[in-house]
Amino acid sequence: MSPRIDKVGVVGGGLMGAGIAEVCARAGLDTVVCEADAVAARAARERVALSLERAVQRGKLDRISAEDALNRLVFTGSLDDLADRRLVIEAVVENADAKTEIFAALDKIVEDPEAILATNTSSIPVMRLGMATQRADHVLGLHFFNPVPVLPLVEIVTSLHTTPQVADTVQEFVTRALGKTVVRSQDRAGFVVNALLIPYLLAAIRMAESGFATPTDVDSGMELGCAHPMGPLKLADLIGLDTVAAIAESLYEEFKEPLYAPPPLLQRMVEAGLLGRKSGRGFHHYDPH
Ligand code: NAD
Repeated sequence: MSPRIDKVGVVGGGLMGAGIAEVCARAGLDTVVCEADAVAARAARERVALSLERAVQRGKLDRISAEDALNRLVFTGSLDDLADRRLVIEAVVENADAKTEIFAALDKIVEDPEAILATNTSSIPVMRLGMATQRADHVLGLHFFNPVPVLPLVEIVTSLHTTPQVADTVQEFVTRALGKTVVRSQDRAGFVVNALLIPYLLAAIRMAESGFATPTDVDSGMELGCAHPMGPLKLADLIGLDTVAAIAESLYEEFKEPLYAPPPLLQRMVEAGLLGRKSGRGFHHYDPH
């Protein structure tokens, strides 16, 4: 019988962290979200509240369940509030130094030595984060997809140190408690989905960069010609261009394949703060809400 995961922590309440927290709270779990400070914690609460409200408006959730889910969530600016958690899912920016620092701190703060520390990283080696702790056998990748309340997939990524029982416990939690579907991956940059997806997105960016086709035509081509629900540049905007660039850099660093190298246009857009949907402009323009 695997240990019960009843208290969850989420570090980072941005696009992904807010979504993960929402899914946990909607599943009835006691969930604490830790942001960088109290102001960011309030912004994370707003993000979840807005998403729950949208689910109500669309008829996906009744109002009482939405209110219950929000009441189940605690938002904080201090990692110390995660001391009693059984599972902590880290979802801060895709930056190895920032994540390593958080894993080292969580290892000291989270009291139960059997508690599991997971990362939602898209491309940073799970091993590197595990080695920042004294419990690398209890560290794994738990890679959700955006938007988390909608997309059913979670990749479980085991490092060379992760014990099989820990991966099994988390798989049971993700499938039974959260109702998601799991695929397992080895600890290689990009795991299964991004190793396939990112070179495709970068090829679309290069196409727009060279003037070969406009962003709208690139997207229409894949939506109307291949029945993709969203073209690659819209998808890159949805993921966040900073995140796409960071994943591309990790893939390039790992495999040294030119196809993984972020194109100059992507780098310039990130430097310009044109991050896609979350900043209002990327390859396309977006309303604030
Ligand atoms: P984001 O920029 O929307 O959110 C990151 C959040 O982390 C911000 O709210 C920031 O305030 C917070 N943060 C930064 N430092 C912190 C700290 N020390 N303590 C607590 N919070 C801190 O980024 P995102 O898109 O949510 O991505 C988060 C992670 O999820 C990344 O590792 C990314 O690769 C991964 N991911 C992203 C996607 C996607 O589609 N965007 C999909 C799967 C996985």
